[in-house]
Amino acid sequence: MSFDSLGLSAELLRAVREQGYTQPTPIQRQAIPAILQGRDIMAGAQTGTGKTAGFTLPLLQRLASSRVTGRRRPVRALILTPTRELAAQVAESVETYGRHLELTSTVVFGGVKINPQIERLRRGVDILIATPGRLLDHAGQGTVDLSRVEILVLDEADRMLDMGFIHDIRKVLALLPENGSRQNLLFSATFSSDIKRLAHQLLNRPELIEVARSNATADRIEQRVHPVDKARKRELLSHLIGAGDWRQVLVFTRTKHGANRLAQQLERDGLSAAAIHGNKSQGARTRALAGFKNGEVRVLVATDIAARGLDIDQLPHVVNYELPNVPEDYVHRIGRTGRAGSDGEAISLVCVDEHKLLLDIERLLKRKIPSQVLDGYEPDPTIPAEPIQQGRGGRGRGGPSGNRGGGGRGEVNGNRRNAPGHGSQRRGHAGDAPAGGGHRRPRSGQGRGRQASRNGSRRDG
Ligand code: AMP
Repeated sequence: MSFDSLGLSAELLRAVREQGYTQPTPIQRQAIPAILQGRDIMAGAQTGTGKTAGFTLPLLQRLASSRVTGRRRPVRALILTPTRELAAQVAESVETYGRHLELTSTVVFGGVKINPQIERLRRGVDILIATPGRLLDHAGQGTVDLSRVEILVLDEADRMLDMGFIHDIRKVLALLPENGSRQNLLFSATFSSDIKRLAHQLLNRPELIEVARSNATADRIEQRVHPVDKARKRELLSHLIGAGDWRQVLVFTRTKHGANRLAQQLERDGLSAAAIHGNKSQGARTRALAGFKNGEVRVLVATDIAARGLDIDQLPHVVNYELPNVPEDYVHRIGRTGRAGSDGEAISLVCVDEHKLLLDIERLLKRKIPSQVLDGYEPDPTIPAEPIQQGRGGRGRGGPSGNRGGGGRGEVNGNRRNAPGHGSQRRGHAGDAPAGGGHRRPRSGQGRGRQASRNGSRRDG
C-alpha cells in the first residue's frame, strides 16, 4: 500500500516523499483515513511506530482545507505531550510535514524563557504543541487562547498520567471549546483504567486503532545479555564500543547521578560522551542530543525519563548499563533502536544484583534473552548479590525536568509500577508496551502523582 491511497493532499504527499517514506506504517494506514473523516481515535501506539506522522498528516490536511476568519490566527490544533523532548520532536514533524502548506505552528514547554513563546503566540499560530504545565502558565497569563481549538491530540497519554499531569490535563480541557465541536485523538502505549476513564470522558465514539505490540517490535532487535561484575561494567562498555567501533550508542543508567558519572568516566576513556537527564538544563539537553545526532558525541548516557521521546533515526546500539526496575522500561529502551524498519542491537550488562530484574524482563518478553559471557569479563562467582541502589534522595517521579528542591537526584522508575507479576495482567492490545495493568498505585508514602505534579509538571511543562 502506498501513501497515495490514504486520501492525503498533494502537498502532504510531497512532504512525505521528501522524507523518503515509501509506505505508510500500520498505524498510519489506520489512523490517517479515520482522522481525515473527522473521527475521534484512541490509538495504542508507542514512539517508533510512525504515530507522529499518523496524526500530524491528517491534522494538517484538515486545518488546511478550511479557513478561519479574523485578523489573528487562532490556535486550531493543540498537541499535548508529556516531555519537552517529545514536544520538540512533534513540533519538528509538524514543520516538516507541513512545509508546503501555509499553516503556522509553535511549541511551548518549560525550562526555557517564556517571553519568546509569548511573542510567537501573540503573532498567532494554527498549531500549538505544548507540555501541560507551561501551557497552563500561558493560559494563566492570558497569553494563549484555546477557545477555538478544533483538534486536540494527547500524545503518550499514559506517560502524562504517569507523570502526574492528570489535573493539568483537566484544566486544559476546561479551556477548550465544548466537547462535541472538536476532534479528539488519544495516543497511548498502555491502557490502564486511568487512561480508559480519560478516554471515556474525552472521546466521542472513537475508532480504536491497534498496532503491533512491543514484543513484535522487539523481534527486529538483536538482544543480548553479557553477565559481568558491577565494578567492571564501565570497562566492558568501553571495550565493546572500541572493539566494535560503535559510532553512536545510547546507554541507559538507572539514576541521574549514575549517568553523569558514567559519561565522565567514558570521557576519561577517550570516548566522547554526554549525559542527558532531568537535572540538566534544557539547553544542555538539546546540545547533548544535537551532538549525538551529528556524530560529535559518540555515547549518550540517559535515564529512562530523559530518553523518552528521543527520536534518533536508525540508532544502531542501545546498551542497558543497568537494567531498569520496571520491565516495560526495557521495552521502551530497546525500542530506541531498530526504529521504523531498521535493525538494531540491544545489549544488557547484567551483574549478580540484577538477576531478578532480568527474569522479570524475560517473563514480560515471554522468552529468554541470549546470554554470553565475554572472555576476560567472567563474573566472579564469590561476589554476593546486593540490593539495588535506587539513587539518592527523591523517590518520586518528577518528570524530565527533575530539579526538585531538596536533593531529588534519584530519577528512579521503580515506584511507578510494581515490577513483578506484571505479565499476568497484560492483554494483547495495541501499542508497543503492554496494555492493561500498566499503571498501579504507587506504594504508600511514595505519592507519585502529587509530587510529580508539584515538582515535575510545573517545572517541566
Ligand atoms: P514516531 O513513532 O512518530 O516517533 O516515528 C518513528 C520514526 O519513524 C521517525 O523517525 C519517523 O521519521 C519515521 N517514520 C514515520 N513514518 C514513516 C514511514 N511511513 N516510513 C518510514 N519511516 C517513517
